[in-house]
Amino acid sequence: MTGKIIKGIAGFYYVNDGENRVYQCRAKGVFRNRKIKPLVGDNVEFSVLDDETLEGNIDEILPRKNALVRPAVANVDQAMVLFALAQPSPNLNLLDRFLVMMAMEAVPVVICFNKADLGDRAMADAYRKIYEGAGYEVHFISVRKETGMEQVRSLLRGRTTVLAGPSGVGKSSLTNRIQPEASMETGGISRKIERGKHTTRHSELFFVEKDTYMMDTPGFSSMYTPDMEASGLKDFFPEFEAYEEGCRFLGCVHIGERVCGVKAAVNEDKIPQSRYENYRLIYEELKQKRRY
Ligand code: GDP
Ligand code: ZN
Repeated sequence: MTGKIIKGIAGFYYVNDGENRVYQCRAKGVFRNRKIKPLVGDNVEFSVLDDETLEGNIDEILPRKNALVRPAVANVDQAMVLFALAQPSPNLNLLDRFLVMMAMEAVPVVICFNKADLGDRAMADAYRKIYEGAGYEVHFISVRKETGMEQVRSLLRGRTTVLAGPSGVGKSSLTNRIQPEASMETGGISRKIERGKHTTRHSELFFVEKDTYMMDTPGFSSMYTPDMEASGLKDFFPEFEAYEEGCRFLGCVHIGERVCGVKAAVNEDKIPQSRYENYRLIYEELKQKRRY
């Protein structure tokens, strides 16, 4: 059988068969044949040892598409980054950092703004313009008003998604809403139990629907600084490229040069101020970091 490791605890790996039957497995033999340690997110070949108790053994780890370090998870198809349109209003610096980190890992990102019920149209349009202009898919949803939930489901369908976002934006509300067990429950108490469960577990994929998994990442913070040469940062701001032909020097980093197409585009509001400003901040940080 094939399945996906959804968590690992004390030598056991929990393997979901894609239909939400979860087998408690050992990985006898895997370490001998291959030198890789099983990781949450790994797709595996496993044998069922007991159909009643759902015990099994992992025979083989299938080839990995990718593996993130933080959170530790393999085979990530996409990241969904969640911010609130208001309360709290989005920290675009955090968002831009996150976009750089994911671009470095070649993980596509979908940007969702929750609490659309609290924001106004003009705000939404402004964020949409900035991030669609940078090449990202942008969605506005409200978990509370249950708008955009089908959109979210179809974004997730058949994929493994890492969910990220600062606290207070509605991550637990969203994860509780899209889980099959939670959707069957109506009482507030059981919801709370569900919610507690997700704030305490680390590196665990939860099942959304057939072949669809999500991981809520605990470590989304301002500590994110990408690890790269400062001069390479500009490549992760895709909307800059169109204006680079206005730069005097090849490889211009768009900071100190007088004749710079990117800076000109910022002055003419063709590139959003916030994106350039965050670029500059991250650039300076990378310079500092590499100095020591
Ligand atoms: P987390 O810290 O990201 O997990 O956020 P929570 O899911 O705990 O939500 C934080 C607060 O925002 C809670 O009081 C939620 O009820 C509220 N909230 C979540 N989604 C929405 C929404 O769409 N609209 C509004 N107005 N409030 C929401
Ligand atoms: Zn330039």
